[in-house]
Amino acid sequence: FQAGETSEAPLELDRDTLSGDLGPLKYKKYDLLIVGCGLSGCVLAERCSRELGMTSLIIDVRDHIGGNCYDYLDEAGIRCSKYGAHLFHTKYERVWKYVTRFSEWMANDHRVRGMVPDFEGVKKLVPIPPTQETVNTLFPDANINSEDDMLRWYEGQRVKPSSGEAKNGEEAALSRVGPLLYERIFKHYTKKQWDKYPAELDASVLMRLPCRTSTDDRYFGDAWQALPVRGYTRIFENMLLRDPKITIKLNVDFFAAREAGLLPAHGKLVFTGPIDAYFAAQGLPKLEYRSLRFEEEFIEEPEDGFYQPAFVVNHPSSDVPFTRIVEYKHVPNQPSNVKAGQVKGTRIAKEYSSAEGDPYYPVPNPENRALYERYRQLAEKESDVCFVGRLASYKYFNMDQAILNALEMFDSLKESGKLQPKR
Ligand code: UDP
Repeated sequence: FQAGETSEAPLELDRDTLSGDLGPLKYKKYDLLIVGCGLSGCVLAERCSRELGMTSLIIDVRDHIGGNCYDYLDEAGIRCSKYGAHLFHTKYERVWKYVTRFSEWMANDHRVRGMVPDFEGVKKLVPIPPTQETVNTLFPDANINSEDDMLRWYEGQRVKPSSGEAKNGEEAALSRVGPLLYERIFKHYTKKQWDKYPAELDASVLMRLPCRTSTDDRYFGDAWQALPVRGYTRIFENMLLRDPKITIKLNVDFFAAREAGLLPAHGKLVFTGPIDAYFAAQGLPKLEYRSLRFEEEFIEEPEDGFYQPAFVVNHPSSDVPFTRIVEYKHVPNQPSNVKAGQVKGTRIAKEYSSAEGDPYYPVPNPENRALYERYRQLAEKESDVCFVGRLASYKYFNMDQAILNALEMFDSLKESGKLQPKR
């Protein structure tokens, strides 16, 4: 691939990009004004530039590019994610081909462990999603030695949904794993993550996790599972920073700048923030989003160099307030000195879910869907605005789905003739 990808030196953002000052752009014109420098906004900027020669101004209220994918090296040199662990996986060839244009990638099968109470209430470290090992460790009497054994065990456990099809997260989980695993792995984790029990959420939330009869303990089943060798931020740098058609201004609040009349002239607006914030003046109730809070800790001298045995350890029981702990050193895309054991300490992040703070997740359930539908109808009437991404389309996208969605949005805008560079 790609000029720059071979160099270890990160590209620097210049002072102008970080200044938060739109003043110098007053007399410029852009084909697109893009609000939000995460995956969706950046894919659209990149495609519109490369394929159509269009110019973009991307603004973001934060002081960095990359949205929630942003990662960086801490003082010790360990690559950390500011907004929680990001594990790329996809079944879409189009997405895989696209992302490999901007980064070198290394194969990485994500394996999660959970601290889960066994039949006597003693916590054991087991694979999540549940595998044969999970059931044997928590319930030794199950004595599972084959896929057939596991299938029989599940069949003895599973509770059929009353109407044939699972109507919510509780019915989905009970119909796949039964009450013993539901209670231990899903019920309380879900309550902590969403402040709702699974019965109050769409079935799709709980269906994100596979349910295995085999010994396969990978978290995802997709064909491509990989990490960017030099981190996610580098992907955004490679997409944006060498392109003279793309201008980025960080530390800029779109709403404040609009109010103050500071936005430069532009064609279409691409809005990737929360859709209810865009339509705040309409007086509809606010949409529900969940946020995360990370409690970080640097441990100087962990035993054997590590704090825990896996990159992510889930804590699904209700007696601890966090949902999971991430230990960055485990992933293979750490810088070479970290991998060689030359960095002695380790950094962990305990993840807490919260209603306050930057929105990370839409909350998928029928009430929120109905309210979002009212916002979507308002959005349809804004013909010069394109609403795209997790927050603007209120969809629980994974990274690859966000990329695919933005690529498809580009396709359809292009086909409809709505994307025209101003000449
Ligand atoms: N989940 C759970 N227990 C677990 C892991 C996941 O109950 O140990 C449920 C929970 O409702 C969670 C959902 O499955 O919100 C999706 O999990 P995933 O790991 O995909 O969440 P994300 O990484 O997007 O936060």
